[in-house]
Amino acid sequence: MNIILMGLPGAGKGTQADQIVEKYAIPHISTGDMFRYAIKEGTELGLKAKSFMDEGALVPDEVTIGIVRERLSKSDCKDGFLLDGFPRTVPQAEALDELLTDLNKNVKHVINIQVEQEELVKRLSGRRICKVCGTSYHLIFNPPQVDGVCDKDGGELYQRPDDNPETVTNRLEVNMKQTQTLLDYYGKKNIITNIDGQQDIHKVFDDIDALLGATATK
Ligand code: AMP
Repeated sequence: MNIILMGLPGAGKGTQADQIVEKYAIPHISTGDMFRYAIKEGTELGLKAKSFMDEGALVPDEVTIGIVRERLSKSDCKDGFLLDGFPRTVPQAEALDELLTDLNKNVKHVINIQVEQEELVKRLSGRRICKVCGTSYHLIFNPPQVDGVCDKDGGELYQRPDDNPETVTNRLEVNMKQTQTLLDYYGKKNIITNIDGQQDIHKVFDDIDALLGATATK
């Protein structure tokens, strides 16, 4: 089952993605995670992406499309995948369509998690991430047991450079415009399902699961 997960930064894509990939046994392909990993490892890709990411801007399409093409061609994607954070522009969506046609695949669901902007700013500026395993916490909504320390592995928690309040506002503005063009693009193909992301996180997953479960064998 090939799925695209959409939603503005802070909508809870990461949390839902973890549960979807576990239940449906498909790889989680997050372009944001791929860029962060490349930066951490100091690779050429990381060097290309860093300045854009630090400003909350999009990494150029040719760079982003290239890494997705390489990733989707790997064998673990043969029975399905979950794309998170890609596509973010119409050229990326078009490139994805071409790539999937080449691979004899198509997108089955575009899941759009909807959350209001005011709530997103609140969520993003309180977000903290474990340096070791990448688990996400929130100072108010989902705090760790010990301040600044990951519950799972004791790793130090940090704030992503693009989660500071000025960058958050810029990221949301850039994303809102882009998201609308993509919603229009996939709306025409009739494969979008909107999910209310302001519900309890378990209920959000139940709604997604009901959608995917109903079509899993088709
Ligand atoms: P995310 O973790 O999805 O919020 O992505 C963090 C940052 O990575 C974004 O603000 C962009 O700078 C970059 N990025 C991630 N995915 C894409 C994409 N599909 N196209 C361009 N830039 C991206």
